[in-house]
Amino acid sequence: MTQPDIQKKLLEQIRGIYALRAALSLHGWDQETKMPIGGGGSRAFVMAELAGHLHKAMTHPEMFDLLDSVALETSGSPEWKACVKAMRKDCLRKAKLPISLDKALVQAASLAQHAWSEARNHGNPSGFLPLFRQLVHLKREEADCLREPGQSKYEALLQTYEPGVTLAMIEPVFDSLEVGLTGIVEHLRENGGLIKPPPFPGTFPRGQQKSYLKDMLPRLGFDMRRGRLDESAHPFSEGITREDVRLTVRYHEDNFLDSYFSLLHEGGHGLYEQGFDEEWLMTPMAEAVSLGVHESQSRFWENCVGRSREYWEGEYPLLVQYFPAALGSIDLDSFMRRVQSVHPSAVRVQADEITYNMHILLRFRLEKLIVEGDLGIDELESAWNSEMQRWFWLTPDHLNEGYLQDVHWAAGLFGYFPTYTLGNLWAAQIREKLIEVFPRYHFMVREGHFGPILEWLRQNIHRQARKTNSIELMRNATGCELDSDSFLRYLRERYIT
Ligand SMILES: [Zn+2]
Repeated sequence: MTQPDIQKKLLEQIRGIYALRAALSLHGWDQETKMPIGGGGSRAFVMAELAGHLHKAMTHPEMFDLLDSVALETSGSPEWKACVKAMRKDCLRKAKLPISLDKALVQAASLAQHAWSEARNHGNPSGFLPLFRQLVHLKREEADCLREPGQSKYEALLQTYEPGVTLAMIEPVFDSLEVGLTGIVEHLRENGGLIKPPPFPGTFPRGQQKSYLKDMLPRLGFDMRRGRLDESAHPFSEGITREDVRLTVRYHEDNFLDSYFSLLHEGGHGLYEQGFDEEWLMTPMAEAVSLGVHESQSRFWENCVGRSREYWEGEYPLLVQYFPAALGSIDLDSFMRRVQSVHPSAVRVQADEITYNMHILLRFRLEKLIVEGDLGIDELESAWNSEMQRWFWLTPDHLNEGYLQDVHWAAGLFGYFPTYTLGNLWAAQIREKLIEVFPRYHFMVREGHFGPILEWLRQNIHRQARKTNSIELMRNATGCELDSDSFLRYLRERYIT
């Protein structure tokens, strides 16, 4: 075969692999949004079969022949070279996992996730725990297959979400973050700044919420022709492809801020997914470089923009028009005290942007112990509760507010949690860079003039896709190394001065 033929054939194979991945992610989305409760067993089987086909496609000898035959030194754009390099890396990693283990993992995660949801509904984990134990056992096996010499089991799993990032890179940053966060919380506590805000005096009708939120997405730059908004018990986003990006939300008539910020968050993820280069559709060059970078996009919109005073100076009058009963008697200052309230809570997804990271550090340290085999599932509840006391001075009232609150572990996503905090750290670095690039940044946010900001993100982050790893991407975009300095500076500016 000539080089152009090899390139053409390889691109076809890559797109075939991404088509299977799209099918898997659509099944995952459907499982969380539309699937009837009885569909759990057969869905787990379907997803495991699809995972098996994906495994075969990624580890087929022809795939490796093509990857070996393509002459990168002499031909191809930087994007093509990055695309082949990323695909080779993914295929080699996949080949380390026996197909039987790959399928067993998908099936076990789907079943455990289903049982987790039942355990939450019935307030009883007895059906969930044996499936969870089995899943953890398989995850340890997976880690043993994947790990490189010198890597711990946990670090091997972390690579799935944050490739190229080691524990040696993140642990010192998280330790200094812990010192900074506890200092800020202590300062707020001493100054009476840890206050749970009072409820709003009226409700936020569901229909009004729906129309307000649907209008909000295009104003940020989200293309509704390439995306949709549905409801689910736990808000999430799923990029099936850059042309089909699904967001979900849940509506609370008495707690609109929860719906609002979770949609702003998922909208940030959605903007990233829609921002990949069209030319590279269904290849690694239309895929997130890492979950930490993904999270930097959601956190930038949710917190850096959405919890800023300047944003609400522009947006609040419109919000009052939509919800006169709840907001007619609330002025901007008292609304902002709700938006920027800080108080320890048992539930991660209800946490403010300061204590949120304490939830992540708690989970990060526990999940490392679980994966390394140093914390048994039987000990999880008591370990969880004692950590909650240490960080937040409280004990959860219910398992649903304890270790059953997050789906991640039940879905087998060990090594995922630290990416949330990495996202927060990077979002603050992005904000500082934007303020430098756009001297009128605050004014643009107040006016809702987001076009130039989104274009900067597209150029420097979205369209870079997997050209480099996350650390290098963020260094190129913001000029910063991975550290907690920008984030702590941002929190102090917003909450202390
Ligand atoms: Zn997120």
